Amino acid sequence: MSEQRNQQPDPGLLSINTATVRQQWTLDKIIDGCARHDIRGISPWRDQTQALGLKETARRIRSHQLTVTGYCRGGMFPAATEQLRQANNDDNRRAVDEALELNAQCLVLVVGGLPESSKDLYQARMQVRDGLATLLEYSRSVSMPLAIEPLHPMYAADRACINTLEQANDLCDELGDDGLGIAVDLYHTWWDPKFSSQIKRAGKSRLLAFHICDWLAPTQDLLLDRGMMGDGVIDIRAARWAVEAEGYRGFHEVEIFSARNWWLRDGDDVLSICKQRHLDCC
Ligand code: ZN
Repeated sequence: MSEQRNQQPDPGLLSINTATVRQQWTLDKIIDGCARHDIRGISPWRDQTQALGLKETARRIRSHQLTVTGYCRGGMFPAATEQLRQANNDDNRRAVDEALELNAQCLVLVVGGLPESSKDLYQARMQVRDGLATLLEYSRSVSMPLAIEPLHPMYAADRACINTLEQANDLCDELGDDGLGIAVDLYHTWWDPKFSSQIKRAGKSRLLAFHICDWLAPTQDLLLDRGMMGDGVIDIRAARWAVEAEGYRGFHEVEIFSARNWWLRDGDDVLSICKQRHLDCC
C-alpha cells in the first residue's frame, strides 16, 4: 500500500473533459489538442458533437485513437408532465445511441432536479428512478453503461437531485448493477463524510468514471469557478487511492468549468498545466 501511495498516476490515464477548454476551442481543435499533448482520453459534450457532427467527431477521435472516457450527458429525467418526461426519455435514448457511435465507455447522467414550479423533491427522485429504469431497458439491450453522477447538493433544485454517492449506490441496488454505475466527480463528492465507505460499497463494478478538479476556497461562482488540481482543498491523491483500492483502473478525467480563469487562458497552456498537475496532485 505505501508503495502504491508514493506513486504518481500513469500519465496515460489522463482524460480531458471537453468543457475544460470549451471557450477557447471548438471540438475538432480540442481533439487535435489532446492528440498533440499526448493526452489519451477525452469526454465530449453533446452540444459540441452536434456542432461538429457525430460521425465526424467519431472519425476524428478514432483517427487519434483516443479513448472516450464518458459522453456528457444524459439524464434530466424529472418533468412537470408525462409528455415532457416522455420527451426526455426519447432524448436519452438518442444520447445512448450517440455514446455508442463514439464508442464511449459510459453515458454520464446528470439526473435533473425539481420540475418547473414543483417543491416535491421526493417525487423528483422517484421520477429519476423511473426514468432511469426506462432508459436502462434500452441501454442494457445495446450494452452502453450508464453512470449516475451525484452532484453537490447546491444543485439539487436545478441540475441533480441525486446528491451523494450513497443515493447513487441505493439506485444501483434498486435497479441492478448490470450496465449501471457511478461517475465519481470529486467537485461534487469531496465533502461527503461517507465518501470512503460509499466508494467501498460501490466497488470496482460500479466505479465507471473518475472526474477531477479542485474546490477553491472561497468559491466565487457555484457553477463556473472550479479550480485546477492543486489550487484548492481537495485531497485528490487520497481519493485516487480510494478508488484504486477498489480496483478502479480507469481514466482520471479533468473537468474544469472556469469562466474567471482557465477559460480565459490559451488552450495549449491549459492542457500542459493539466498534464503537470495530474502528475503532481493526483
Ligand atoms: Zn463530472
